[in-house]
Amino acid sequence: MFSLIIPVYNEEGLIDELVSRSAKALESFTPNYEILFINDGSTDSTLRKLIEARKQYSRIKIVDLSRNFGHQAAFTAGLEMAMGNYVAMMDGDLQDPPELLAEMYRKIKEEGFDIVSGKRQGRKGKRLKIATNLFHAFFKQASGMEDMENAGNFSIMNRAAVNAMLQMKETIRYLPGLRMFIGFKQGYVDYIREDRLEGEPKMSLGKLILLGADAIFSFSNFPIKVCLFLGTIGTIVFFFAGVYALVDKLFGWSVLGWSSTVLSIYFLGSIQLIFLGVVGEYVYRIYKESQNRPIYLVRKFYDAETE
Ligand code: UDP
Ligand code: MG
Repeated sequence: MFSLIIPVYNEEGLIDELVSRSAKALESFTPNYEILFINDGSTDSTLRKLIEARKQYSRIKIVDLSRNFGHQAAFTAGLEMAMGNYVAMMDGDLQDPPELLAEMYRKIKEEGFDIVSGKRQGRKGKRLKIATNLFHAFFKQASGMEDMENAGNFSIMNRAAVNAMLQMKETIRYLPGLRMFIGFKQGYVDYIREDRLEGEPKMSLGKLILLGADAIFSFSNFPIKVCLFLGTIGTIVFFFAGVYALVDKLFGWSVLGWSSTVLSIYFLGSIQLIFLGVVGEYVYRIYKESQNRPIYLVRKFYDAETE
């Protein structure tokens, strides 16, 4: 069995094309598949359209989440519910072409990989391109994880890799990072990322920045290193400033100024604030994880038997 996971959030305009193209792409290499749509709390007619499509395509299953949990949570729901011995993750806006799944499937079956991900060779949509590239370059440096560059969610995993993913229960999730973390034999297929077919991106700039922050804070100690670096610089600077002040006083060249006092307070104060912010961020994360809340909640599961 082959499972394809697709999270959708207010995508009513492209469900029909998404369903027909995905089903066609899968049928080209296997008759035995399921398409798991995760409806991530859509407020438009997405769910209705999916239920409609299910009448024609009986291999569609729908996981209707109780509210919007975010697309990393939606993918997680899919991973937990997928039954296939191969499981694929794909965005629902047709930026990841379903037609590429055949090539990815061939590669994972014939070349002995456990995971095959799509590697973006440039995007048609200009939006945020520079920012995204910068982020990936930076993340690679900070996390020490190679080959992460330009690999997003689009990927196929075998059952062993999926089970490994499922063992990671953390609340704050960045799946492409987790997928690198688990190791296994990883292969790549190059592709051009299309413009989203219809509608506005559902990941707003704000959501993307938060996702980037999740990636950096949960996969690296870079922010802490920044603190240590700034702290060290600050200490050195003020050591010399202190020596200067002493010499100044010894020789009685001038009255020690008010400005140097105030400046040092400002400088040290701001370094401390940065430190506090970073420590706070980690404390918040520990708090979040220790709450141990479910990553998503299911309102209804439309599987093969559901009417
Ligand atoms: N999505 C989701 N929940 C959200 C935001 C997005 O399930 O809270 C889905 C969305 O419907 C799409 C996929 O995740 O199928 C990727 O979203 P989008 O295209 O907005 O992200 P981008 O391509 O900008 O990373
Ligand atoms: Mg998109």
